[in-house]
Amino acid sequence: MIDCLFCKIAQGEIPATLYYENKDIVVFDDINPQAPIHKLIIPREHIATLNDLQDHHQPLVGQMLQVASSIAKQLDIADVGYRLVSNCNAGAGQTVFHIHFHLLGGRPLHWPPG
Ligand code: 5GP
Ligand code: ZN
Repeated sequence: MIDCLFCKIAQGEIPATLYYENKDIVVFDDINPQAPIHKLIIPREHIATLNDLQDHHQPLVGQMLQVASSIAKQLDIADVGYRLVSNCNAGAGQTVFHIHFHLLGGRPLHWPPG
């Protein structure tokens, strides 16, 4: 049994403000938002880092991107612009080792990120 925060959120063992879920994916608000809109898009399957993706994960990752795009439209940030980021490993700032995309929007987003 993996002791993983995002597995527990996906299983409803730890509360989160859920925005969307289906059989493969869960979307919820980040507890420490970095923008007016800051959602986390996670697979239900435990995958520790992007480095652990395998060929059979392609449809899952595609679905995560599609869900992000749909949510951006629903939240009315699609046209003005939004950012989808995934930090891989500690040097990039990954703190929860269950893959996720951050969907950020609702304010101007500068580039490059820190
Ligand atoms: P990472 O740093 O791995 O790219 O992103 C992990 C994100 O998870 C961070 O933005 C952090 O604020 C968020 N986070 C950490 N613990 C919790 C929690 O218990 N609930 C929620 N909703 N988000 C969390
Ligand atoms: Zn997990």
